[in-house]
Amino acid sequence: MTLNKKEIVALLNDEKNQDVLFKQADEIRKQYVGDEVHLRGLIEFSNICRNNCLYCGIRSGNKEAQRYRMEPEEIIATAKQAADMGFKTIVMQSGEDMYYNIDRMCHIIKEIKKFDVAVTLSIGERSYEEYKAFREAGADRYLMRIETTDKDLYHQLDPNMSWQNRYDCLMMIKELGYELGSGIMVGLPNQSVESIAEDLLFLKDIEVDMSGIGPFIPHPQTPLGKEQGGALNLALRTMAIMRLLLPDINIPATTAMETLHPQGRIMALQAGANVVMPNVNSGEYRKLYQLYPGKNNADVASTHAQSDVGKKIISIGRTIGKGYGGHKK
Ligand code: SAM
Repeated sequence: MTLNKKEIVALLNDEKNQDVLFKQADEIRKQYVGDEVHLRGLIEFSNICRNNCLYCGIRSGNKEAQRYRMEPEEIIATAKQAADMGFKTIVMQSGEDMYYNIDRMCHIIKEIKKFDVAVTLSIGERSYEEYKAFREAGADRYLMRIETTDKDLYHQLDPNMSWQNRYDCLMMIKELGYELGSGIMVGLPNQSVESIAEDLLFLKDIEVDMSGIGPFIPHPQTPLGKEQGGALNLALRTMAIMRLLLPDINIPATTAMETLHPQGRIMALQAGANVVMPNVNSGEYRKLYQLYPGKNNADVASTHAQSDVGKKIISIGRTIGKGYGGHKK
């Protein structure tokens, strides 16, 4: 569907009629990507980060965060467990931790590919040479949110980072033939509804294969700890509009939505989302990967229909995806 900026802003502002929007997004989701919900096994393998984003609990400046880094063999063993549970995609996410150089990352990717799974990387900004090596080692998809297309806001929130560089990285990833994942945060301090509309048009313009919308949740150990957050409804509307604009892409029901509301994921799955990414880390690491408070507390990772996640999916008339769940264009 084509929507202009004015129409998108009107939908974003219309809280009263949001159920109509959610229903429309749900119908389009059903028509284009069907009833399958694809489960991805998420491994958060290091919370060490060279960046200092103002919103993020694992920013380098947070001296209270207890840091961890999983060794390659431990990451591979965790991926094996996830594959044995039935996950057909493994998502590897971390802070920007340069310990994982080309040799280490390629070894991990090659080993995980032996488990007959799709591999998604979410490890931030790297060089063309690194992205190319990871792709050649077998990585299929890459996830990196643009966070916001308001460049001033981006530079305020991500000091010492360059919006242009993040954009250039997304273009390299696309050129190398990865499935490209991106997305934004919603409800950031000083973020206007107009800029969210522009974000959505940007995601359409760069033809993402998958895209996640995360409501900003303030973390007390960050400079934004006392800011207002938790814009769940606005995030759900943003996500639903994204489904209208990009009817066939993969859209996750994000963890941040579930953190804000016990039924947040189900609400998202009924408003355009078709992917869930349960955390497969052990409890010890989960507690430490605190991008925002309340994250990672609930999930018991499973692809089983009788699991908590599985039962919820089936209770709303959906099925659990059996394949790799890539972008079907
Ligand atoms: N380092 C990689 C990167 O930059 O893409 C991946 C890890 S990064 C921590 C993953 C995502 O967490 C970010 O893209 C951001 O959107 C989200 N995030 C960080 N802090 C958050 C917060 N306080 N509330 C909601 N989402 C947050």
